[in-house]
Amino acid sequence: MNTSKQERPHADIFTAIDAQIEAEIQSLIELRHVLHEHPELSRAEHETTSRIERALADEAVVTRRGPGGVGLIVDSGPSTGPRICVRADIDALALTESTDEPFASRRPGLMHACGHDVHTAVVLGVTKALSRLAPELPLRFLFQHAEEATPGGALDLVAAGAMTDVRAILTLHCDPSRDVGRVGLQSGPLTAAADVFEVTLKGTGGHGARPHETQDLVLCATQAIAALYHAFDRGIDARLPLSISVGVLRAGLTSPNVIPSEVYFAGTVRTPDAQARAQVPFIIERVLGGLGQMWGISHSLDFRRGAPPVHNAPYVVAALTDAVADVLGFEAIDPPSLPSMGGEDFAWYLPHAPGALLRIGTGKGSPLHSATFRADDRAIGLSSKILARAAIILALAPEALIDAARPPER
Ligand SMILES: [Zn+2]
Ligand SMILES: [Zn+2]
Repeated sequence: MNTSKQERPHADIFTAIDAQIEAEIQSLIELRHVLHEHPELSRAEHETTSRIERALADEAVVTRRGPGGVGLIVDSGPSTGPRICVRADIDALALTESTDEPFASRRPGLMHACGHDVHTAVVLGVTKALSRLAPELPLRFLFQHAEEATPGGALDLVAAGAMTDVRAILTLHCDPSRDVGRVGLQSGPLTAAADVFEVTLKGTGGHGARPHETQDLVLCATQAIAALYHAFDRGIDARLPLSISVGVLRAGLTSPNVIPSEVYFAGTVRTPDAQARAQVPFIIERVLGGLGQMWGISHSLDFRRGAPPVHNAPYVVAALTDAVADVLGFEAIDPPSLPSMGGEDFAWYLPHAPGALLRIGTGKGSPLHSATFRADDRAIGLSSKILARAAIILALAPEALIDAARPPER
């Protein structure tokens, strides 16, 4: 007796996907190592884009480059949608690698410290498997440049039509807080919006011996920063998470006895909540305006919106959950955790279609964006199998279910 088909929908294609990915796994790992050895910064991913193109040269796919010749939009199956989309990011960071990996970066000052080399290999595996095994399904694969930049490359690809006719979108991110074989997956808010502020204060400087003849911009700046931190404590509902930090503070040159006439500071405000986020620039302006009036100094504020928060759509998460369960078992999914205060430009795709980001364990170790970050190659095949399954589940699902998962306009 064989009832496995009822219990395990799409069993035949899943088995074929696994065989296809196993057959490719060595070349996917090798490609990841080559990308890792040759990292490229955001919007300079020309070699990386060419390597992905070459890896897909023999596949039945239609590829086009993103704006500026970097990033790739890859379609397989029928020329019209609606499509299921799987996205990888491909850029590296300005960091000198400090690991003893045999495939460590050969470029001082550049490193794949956010695992985007792994993401690229994973989605390449998915592209090869699904373009061969499911040529009847309209699918799209994005190899997105400049995830680490603000504004991110996602906006470039959206402008180039990447989300036209897309029903749902999937992505992954390496997670060095989890072992290989464990994943983080949950509905709702997953990352924060990360908006940037830059402030310049100007007034009268002078001799350190006579601060009363100056407006002491250094004192003003320290008070302004403290006031901003308190203003968010008291200005935003305490139930909503929000974090402000100043990362740059510049005042004076080299003379300890000169009170400068200008001070600059800059930082980020992060929150996964849209309501709290909307208030941020008004609170900053109110604090600076009030203090400026009190001290008689002038201020300028440059406030820039980063990526909005990523909200995982429940229906897309359900497809990923079934996929993870089939590859690793339900128990591989860690309990839901608080949203990250980091930003992720995957969010720019989500006003156009429901989507979800899967965090994939790449072995516990140094954090992302550190010089000692490493990712275990064993996560590559597992991730390809999971994302390929989720794409199949979504592609074969009734359209109405996905449309019901469409996020509300924000
Ligand atoms: Zn990153
Ligand atoms: Zn990243």
